[in-house]
Amino acid sequence: MINIDSFWNDAKSELSKVLNSISFDVWIDKLEPVCFVKNSLILSTISNMSKKTIENQYLKTIKKTVTSLNPMITNVEIILDTDKDEYIKKQDSFIEDEGLIVKGQSDDDLESMKFLERYTFDNFVKGKSNEFALEAAKAICDDLGGKYNPLFIYSSAGLGKTHLLHAIGNHISKTNQRAKILYVNSETFINELINSIRSSNENKNSTHFSNDFREKYRKVDLLMIDDIQFISGKEGSQEAFFHIFNDLYQNQKQIVLTADCSPSDLQKLNDRLRTRFSWGLTVDIQPPNMETKIAILKNKAVREKFNLSDDVAVYIAEKSTSNIREMEGLLNKIIFYSSLTNHTVDTVDIAKEALSDFIEDKKEKIEESDIISAVCNYFNITNQDITGSSRTKSIVEPRMIAMYLMDNMLGVPLVSIGKIFGGRDHTTVMHARDKITEEIKKNPRMRIIVTDIKNSLLNK
Ligand code: ADP
Ligand code: MG
Repeated sequence: MINIDSFWNDAKSELSKVLNSISFDVWIDKLEPVCFVKNSLILSTISNMSKKTIENQYLKTIKKTVTSLNPMITNVEIILDTDKDEYIKKQDSFIEDEGLIVKGQSDDDLESMKFLERYTFDNFVKGKSNEFALEAAKAICDDLGGKYNPLFIYSSAGLGKTHLLHAIGNHISKTNQRAKILYVNSETFINELINSIRSSNENKNSTHFSNDFREKYRKVDLLMIDDIQFISGKEGSQEAFFHIFNDLYQNQKQIVLTADCSPSDLQKLNDRLRTRFSWGLTVDIQPPNMETKIAILKNKAVREKFNLSDDVAVYIAEKSTSNIREMEGLLNKIIFYSSLTNHTVDTVDIAKEALSDFIEDKKEKIEESDIISAVCNYFNITNQDITGSSRTKSIVEPRMIAMYLMDNMLGVPLVSIGKIFGGRDHTTVMHARDKITEEIKKNPRMRIIVTDIKNSLLNK
């Protein structure tokens, strides 16, 4: 049977490509997969308002995406959290996994490989930290399989590697329509390899990947594998990739790889791959400086048609880590806050208010037990109350707040939070988290409670 969580994760990753990031964060990311009933995927949400909005604005897109991933799922229903049990009773288990999930690209898809529209060279802000990588990415577009083969780009997370790969893809699909381009994440590569070994009936005991698999990869003009570090330590995948690499390289086809560290630092990588990775050009992307961060924020604000003042841009840039994805997340929150409250967020004070549920400072020092104590203190209840089974409102609400804070401030896994609170299921924790998140947005009382408790934890 299909694993509904991983299925929905796959669907979300597809949806994140077609929806703008704010819609995705606000509406899609919070949906919870419930079960399958007949040919419908059931997703739940916490409020009537979000149910309506999703039905009106996003349901069509969700359906299309879900059906493209698994043709047996022809419908999607959005329900309220409170109706979950009713649906779970009716659930079906007939949707089978094997052979149905159409993942990766068939030959036809290869011709029409889609790249994220917003990840272009034009939208990539150039700075000291990334200019070599950007120039190298542009250079290979004009000289596929030429002197920078392979191109190896590395950096820590959120600094633009995936963006550059898509930019290459977008550029070449426009300028050289006959070029066959294949972009995969190394995890997809590994999964496809495993499936090809499974489905290869020629020799049941063989651990050799099928000819189809090899054919698919060796006939491209440009192969881009994102996050190649995951191949480390996986012997079979390294072996398969070694052959594909050689095929492509000998035929002067371009290879572009990204990783979270340089080839020499990739642990458990076969030496013969390590040397090959360094044959062409290796470039890194460094964390952006202030100037580049601000330029990236402004660039994004323009695209989102949001009026970003200099003060607020500086505030976000200073507040964020070097991970640009996180920095964009802060800007998204501000944009969302502004649209929700109809306020222009143009001063640092309002920006602070908009980001009030985001606190990174002093994070490491706080522990789960501190959160429990702070919440208990605030509501004048005991440790046993909050971790116990009482369902009275005066206990349930603090419990939910404590769960929310553990997730929000410490990033404790939901399963572990459930354990702390007397072995509750992670879906209960998820529900609590989402409920409080929603309350904070629409209810000033909750906003004040949560801010107060956070401040008490941070000794402010
Ligand atoms: P990585 O693959 O290195 O983890 P991504 O390519 O996913 O990082 O980038 C994270 C986010 O930051 C993306 O939304 C991307 O568009 C944005 N980003 C990164 N670098 C830049 C840049 N120089 N200009 C504009 N946006 C950038
Ligand atoms: Mg990436």
